[in-house]
Amino acid sequence: MSNLIAFVGRCKQAEKEHWQDVLHKAFAQIDCSVEIKLFSQLSDKEKQQCDIAIVANPDVEELAQLANLTWVHSVWAGVDAMLQALSSKQQKPITKTHYDIVRLVDPFLAQTMSEAVLAWTLYLHRNMPLYQQQQNQQIWLQHSYQAPQEKTIGILGLGKLGLKSAERLHQNGFNVIGWSRQLKVIDNIQTVAGEEGLAFLLANSDIVINLLPLTSDTKGLLNKERFALCDQVGLMNFGRGGTQVEKDLLEALDKGQLSHAVLDVFEVEPLAATHPFWEHEKITLLPHISAPTSMQSASNIVAENIKRYFNTGIIPPVVDQTQGY
Ligand code: NAP
Repeated sequence: MSNLIAFVGRCKQAEKEHWQDVLHKAFAQIDCSVEIKLFSQLSDKEKQQCDIAIVANPDVEELAQLANLTWVHSVWAGVDAMLQALSSKQQKPITKTHYDIVRLVDPFLAQTMSEAVLAWTLYLHRNMPLYQQQQNQQIWLQHSYQAPQEKTIGILGLGKLGLKSAERLHQNGFNVIGWSRQLKVIDNIQTVAGEEGLAFLLANSDIVINLLPLTSDTKGLLNKERFALCDQVGLMNFGRGGTQVEKDLLEALDKGQLSHAVLDVFEVEPLAATHPFWEHEKITLLPHISAPTSMQSASNIVAENIKRYFNTGIIPPVVDQTQGY
């Protein structure tokens, strides 16, 4: 094992240097001696020495030049863009790269996401879009109040972010149904799985929140057939834009299957200036900001994981490249 670690990312040069600096400090703080070099700083010989790379939405052509990589640690929670880039390079779905991929699992990120989930759930629960409309038209009209206990929130995805969000919603009085690939048992949360479970969740939720990773199974999942099962449902998509079919979503809003949508993620980001979502009165649009990576927290976690690997040879749980998450 070499203590030379490559940083491979497609962010701006200043941001890469910032990562390099914060990462170096995180390793120093735990007495782990490493040298982190940006890909552009590596000599050809050094490229062959690296067995670990830290990556931020990396250029997979650059990663391919690090022929002796054992594993890479992403500083993002979602690795769909990286897996997509790898399969485009091979022109077929990837089966397995020569290195393992570890994604960021950060309790701070889960906390941040659960805060966004709670904030926008309360926004929909307390009828903010409707009162905003009334204000625009100077209408003084009080609508009846419903308690959180009378509302059900459906969460798609019960992973690190979905589970924390489900717990936080339950703590705030809401009924919660959660959908995952494998059926789970979780205190105070009704859990479902499979196509039937999804249909049940969509038909029985007042608000549906997407926190699924983007994979070949979840791409286009929120389409017209699924929206047809909804009646005046508030939708929040904080997972990935590719999970919703944008034209079906607009249709579902028109038909009243969806009452309002809070969208943080889109098929193409940034959203084009001409996109119909911008002007839609039933859409609240966010610029992919629900749970940004904290550079400090992510660096601390990456440093701890790599130090443990140096000491024990144990690689943290890796992404299942066939499942895509
Ligand atoms: P995770 O821990 O990998 O959890 C994924 C969850 O989705 C798991 O419960 C999994 O089920 C479920 N799932 C996956 N495929 C499924 C399928 N085909 N059918 C049903 N359930 C399925 O992921 P996470 O850390 O919670 O993150 C979720 C996603 O949030 C990330 O992939 C990323 O795209 C997104 N994200 C967004 C932001 C933002 O700012 N908007 C920030 C960070 C992350 P099992 O438990 O059965 O495996």
